[in-house]
Amino acid sequence: MNYYQKEIECASLDTLKALQDERLVKQVNRVYNNVGYYRNLMQKAGVTPDDIKGTKDLYKLPFLSKADLRDAYPYGLLGTPLSECVRIHSTSGTTGKRVVAFYTQHDLDLWDDCCARAIVGAGGSREDICQVCYGYGLFTGGMGLNGGSHKLGCLTLPMSSGNTERQIQFMQDLKSTILGCTPSYAAYIGETLHEMGLTPDDISLKAGIFGAEPWTEEMRHQIEELLGIKAYDIYGLTELSGPGVSFECCEQSGMHVNEDHFIPEIINPETGEVLPEGEVGELVFTSITKEAFPLLRYRTRDLCVLHREKCSCGRTFIKMSKPKGRSDDMLIIKGVNVFPSQVEAVLIEQGYSSNYRIEIGREGNMDTFDVLVELNSSQVSDTVKGIKDSEKALAGAMKTMLGVVPKIHLVAPKSIERSEGKAVRVIDKRKLH
Ligand code: ADP
Ligand code: ZN
Repeated sequence: MNYYQKEIECASLDTLKALQDERLVKQVNRVYNNVGYYRNLMQKAGVTPDDIKGTKDLYKLPFLSKADLRDAYPYGLLGTPLSECVRIHSTSGTTGKRVVAFYTQHDLDLWDDCCARAIVGAGGSREDICQVCYGYGLFTGGMGLNGGSHKLGCLTLPMSSGNTERQIQFMQDLKSTILGCTPSYAAYIGETLHEMGLTPDDISLKAGIFGAEPWTEEMRHQIEELLGIKAYDIYGLTELSGPGVSFECCEQSGMHVNEDHFIPEIINPETGEVLPEGEVGELVFTSITKEAFPLLRYRTRDLCVLHREKCSCGRTFIKMSKPKGRSDDMLIIKGVNVFPSQVEAVLIEQGYSSNYRIEIGREGNMDTFDVLVELNSSQVSDTVKGIKDSEKALAGAMKTMLGVVPKIHLVAPKSIERSEGKAVRVIDKRKLH
């Protein structure tokens, strides 16, 4: 078994806890002294750095939310003088105004380590050729994976996203072995490979490291088949650094959190109460090594479960489940809670493409719920009646899964826009009023 930093990745729980305690105490002091915005929050909550003696006291600290980051935009949460910062990244703005995050050189070094751990977790080594097709620029995906791949010593192809046929050409010519991109783009690359008359035997990829958006197990299998690889999940967010906050190992069952840098908690999103391991709730992170942008108890809005079980890979870091979506991704349609990931699971199970679009609107007092799905290749020559029957069957399968029945529209293959970065799956017209 290979690790990038074995000593810490496989440390005993006692060693890990002691390290977290020490780093947390230091970080709280640093933040209290340097970040006026957070000092105010602590004062309002009646907490002083002396109250925090270790991770057992974490619950006493006030939360930070995305709203705080927007309030404090751009410099209000800086933990170091701006002159010590060497880089800025920004969220992709999936759910509103962007926020910016800052990095010192030390922050970048540790971020690279986290991404290097993820590449090794996916079976990579310095012998590999790593094709990075996450977007480069303010988005953290490209630069993050690039940094990890470079630091590990892989031959790194900084492709960025887009120009899919050229991606495949490079894959063939340079024999890339590891692919990094969003899962929706991986599916698109896979589809294009087959359209070009090629098969996985024509390329040398063995693993993919996919993240930055929610994806289902069904989609994992689809991508693995299309590209002939093992597909690994990676999670992260700009506010904490970017990809590499957690990563999958050979078990492919949840992501190990890099706990020497980030302390995770799961809370009840309504009450803020900390939930025990094994319960679903909102993921909260405290970054204990970040210098430029040190966030304490940051509410990610991502919903998942934490588990600390012995993992066959030998790593001791706690695992988080695939986030099933953000709490604000959840749609309430005709009073029923629906996650786009549930729609995706049904589509793939029923043999459809994972490229779909949900459109929600309102007529009078009633929600409308439409799902656009592409015909699969065997249906293209079907009669109108055949297509209507397939739509009905799919609507029935959705109803069983979701508890609410959508109107299905089977549309021509390739007519729904492909994503090269984060896919846009939902158009909620109700919010426009
Ligand atoms: P934005 O919030 O604008 O999308 P980021 O690019 O920083 O900005 O995205 C971070 C978010 O992306 C996370 O909070 C999470 O919701 C989502 N995300 C990242 N990786 C994964 C993953 N592997 N699975 C599910 N969701 C993910
Ligand atoms: Zn493991």
